Amino acid sequence: MSDSSAARTCEGCDACCTVMAVRELPKAAGAPCSHLLGGSRGCGIWGEHPPSCQTFHCLWRHGEAPQQLFPPDCGFLLAAGERGRWPVAVQVVSLPGRRHAWNTPENRKVFSALAATWNGVVTITDSDGRASHAFAPSGRVYSRTLHPEVFPQGGAIVAVPRSDYAAA
Ligand code: SF4
Ligand code: SF4
Repeated sequence: MSDSSAARTCEGCDACCTVMAVRELPKAAGAPCSHLLGGSRGCGIWGEHPPSCQTFHCLWRHGEAPQQLFPPDCGFLLAAGERGRWPVAVQVVSLPGRRHAWNTPENRKVFSALAATWNGVVTITDSDGRASHAFAPSGRVYSRTLHPEVFPQGGAIVAVPRSDYAAA
């Protein structure tokens, strides 16, 4: 989706053009953008694509996720919330038809490591923006089924206990 400098290139991927919402377009999260050309040919309005497309980098493209988490391979992308704002929130958003691909022991270790490194929370988030799981910096993993108190408003909010964060 993006075109500014970053650690890796997007070649072979257009996952964010489907899974993310674009505020300048009538495009919902989880729906393919109408400007996608298909057949891995990318964006049909490249060069005139909206600012939010131009500035979006998933964490894989930033070089902050392991190489094996290239979105078309792993089945999800990692999207960070606002930098410089604590706690950092990272969303794991699944590609269409790959809703459970995130749930492997290896991926769980990566999510916990990211949460610990940033003293933030990594959430598994549906296309409706509701979280189903939260990986805390303490190493605890919460699920909405077992810990509904951590997911107010059906997961629209994630409220991991303060004790799960490292002291500031
Ligand atoms: S999901 Fe990441 S790697 Fe794929 S096109 Fe978007 S920014 Fe690039
Ligand atoms: S406008 Fe282009 S870059 Fe933006 S979501 Fe659509 S296809 Fe992707």
